[in-house]
Amino acid sequence: MKKVIVFGSLSIAIVPSLLIIAILMTILTIAIIAGGNEENEFENSSFSTNMSLLAENEIPADFIPYYQEAGEKYGINWLILAAVHRQETNFSQNVAVSSAGAIGSLQFMDCTFLGWSYPTCSGLGNGEIPKNILKSPSEIMKYGGYGVDANSDGVADPWNDEDAIHSAANYLSANYKGTTEVDKIQAALFAYNHSDIYVTEVYERFLTYTDGWSSVDGNVATTVLNGKAWPVPFTKNITSSYGQRWGRLHAGIDIAAANISGQPIVALADGVVTRSEYNLILNKDGSEGGWGWYVRINHGNGLETIYAHMNKQGIKVGTQVKLGQVIGYVGNTGGSTGPHLHLETRVNGVALDPMKYIQDLIN
Ligand SMILES: [Zn+2]
Repeated sequence: MKKVIVFGSLSIAIVPSLLIIAILMTILTIAIIAGGNEENEFENSSFSTNMSLLAENEIPADFIPYYQEAGEKYGINWLILAAVHRQETNFSQNVAVSSAGAIGSLQFMDCTFLGWSYPTCSGLGNGEIPKNILKSPSEIMKYGGYGVDANSDGVADPWNDEDAIHSAANYLSANYKGTTEVDKIQAALFAYNHSDIYVTEVYERFLTYTDGWSSVDGNVATTVLNGKAWPVPFTKNITSSYGQRWGRLHAGIDIAAANISGQPIVALADGVVTRSEYNLILNKDGSEGGWGWYVRINHGNGLETIYAHMNKQGIKVGTQVKLGQVIGYVGNTGGSTGPHLHLETRVNGVALDPMKYIQDLIN
């Protein structure tokens, strides 16, 4: 960054051209020296490499060192690697060969892994390659592939998580091209899977994984799409859906997971807070029912949302909130048998299934 500033001020001043050349050569020399200093491309990135709450909850801890090492080595934000891994095989939980013939933890095509100059490589890149050749670092070097033996066991194994993650980073890095950082990320993802939908999904997942992204609160990132925000950044686990339950209408959805108590709840959309109070209903047997501490937000156009069972009083009535803004914290108050968010959406006062508004945020 400093280099640009120096050059800019010099070009404003009228300096003899020989002096400019001398200075440029000095800068070039400094740049070459700095280049050898293992500088990460993302050090000046607009995206944080710190995890959001959702990322902490979702990314398996065992894989994190692999992503981070590979990210450092290949100059890719490690959370992109996690987002690709999540998309490809749900963190290696589904490593079946894809319909296109992609293999392993990160779903490589044989020919991309070994190298497209291998004689049988054409089409999509499922080259019917013998495993001993596919996994051989010397053969990969010969055919120009992206497979990497990261764990130094003598084989580059697309089914080994460490090797596969480094291989994916190697390939993404080779395709990390464009003017802006977003362009580069999206170009790399498009190279990974030539589908605009794929790029959008993985990019948005990456955004939800990095805590440096556009959170109003400054410390919580959640999935946002089409003017709606996922209400509990910590988890997307729905434990009870809208509909008939125990002989009456369950007028919303419940979101819960282990350790959810005290996690932030965010506004589903822009709006104004119209209620922030304790709702108490006594059941016939004397037990407590109702919403407990809850917040109600009016989003305009007849749409309202209700967030129930908060652990304490939420955001003040009258507050203008932005989507994704923290409005309270998950609790167990009112008629609740364990910490969870009970979320309702009302249209002109009528409770409708919230999934109608937030289904897209889960996929
Ligand atoms: Zn509920």
